[in-house]
Amino acid sequence: MKRLEGKTALVTGASRGIGRGIALRLAAEGANVVVHYGTRIDDANETVAAIEAIGGTAFPVGAELNSLEGVDRLLKILDEELIRRTGNNTFDILVNNAGIGTSSSFEETSEEELDRLFAVNVKAPFFLVQKSLERLRDGGRIINISSGVTRIAFPHIMAYNLTKGALNTFTLHLAKLLGPRGITVNSVMPGIVDTDVNKPWLHAPEGRKFAEEMSALGRVGEPSDIADIVAFAASPDGRWVTGQMLDATGGSHL
Ligand code: NDP
Repeated sequence: MKRLEGKTALVTGASRGIGRGIALRLAAEGANVVVHYGTRIDDANETVAAIEAIGGTAFPVGAELNSLEGVDRLLKILDEELIRRTGNNTFDILVNNAGIGTSSSFEETSEEELDRLFAVNVKAPFFLVQKSLERLRDGGRIINISSGVTRIAFPHIMAYNLTKGALNTFTLHLAKLLGPRGITVNSVMPGIVDTDVNKPWLHAPEGRKFAEEMSALGRVGEPSDIADIVAFAASPDGRWVTGQMLDATGGSHL
C-alpha cells in the first residue's frame, strides 16, 4: 500500500513550479490531490493530467489568494468538490505553497508592495489554516513553504524575506497549538529552485553559475528536490517531526 493512500491533500499554487512538483509527488504516494491555482487554469489542468497519467487522482480549484475573500472562495469550491467526490469536506494534508516574490530593493519597496507580499505569503496561509481547522482531520499535516532567506541574508529582497520569517513563526506556534490533535506543522525552506520566478536571471550563464556555487552540492534545486522533503513531512514517517524549519537549500551558505 502506498504511504498516502486514502489521504486527501490540498496544495496551494500547484499549477506550476514547486507546487506542481509537490502535487505530483503526493499523488504518486497515493494521495487524492486538490490542485489549487491562482489564475492559470490551463497550467492547473496540466498538473491534473500529469497526475492522472501516473494513475493518481486530482482535481483543480481556482481562487486568487490576495485577500480573505479569496480564501473563502477557495474553501467554498473545495467544500463543494470534496463533498461531491468523497461525501465529506475533510482533508488530511495542507501545503501552503502559493507565494509571490519581489524585485524591489528595500529602498524601493512601496507600502502597496509590502501589503501585497504579506497578503499572499502570510495572510492567506494564516486564514486558510484558521478556516480549515474543522476540515483538517486529526493526525493531519500542515507544511508551509518558507525559504532559505530566513537563514541566509539577502537584503535586496527584504520585504519578501520578512513574509517567510512570519511563516516560520506561524509554523512554530501552530505546531504547539495543533499537537494535541496529532497534527504536525513544519516549514520547508527551499534555496534557489529552477521555476518561473527565477527564469529571467537563472537562465543566463552568470546567474546559473552564481546559483550553482551557492549550494554545497554544486547545482540548482529542482521542484522534485523540494517535493521529496514535503512528502516525508506529509507521510507517516514524519510523524515525530513538528514545529521544525526543514532546510531544503542543498546546503547553501554552509
Ligand atoms: P511559481 O511562481 O513558479 O508558482 C507560484 C504558484 O503560486 C502558482 O501556482 C501560482 O498560481 C500561485 N500563486 C501566485 N500568486 C498567487 C495568488 N495571488 N493567489 C493564488 N495563487 C497564487 O513559484 P515557485 O514554485 O517558485 O514558488 C513556490 C513557493 O516556494 C513560493 O511560496 C515561494 O516563495 C517559495 N520559494 C521559491 C523558491 C524558488 O527559488 N523558486 C525559493 C524559496 C522559496 P498561478 O499559476 O495560477 O499564477
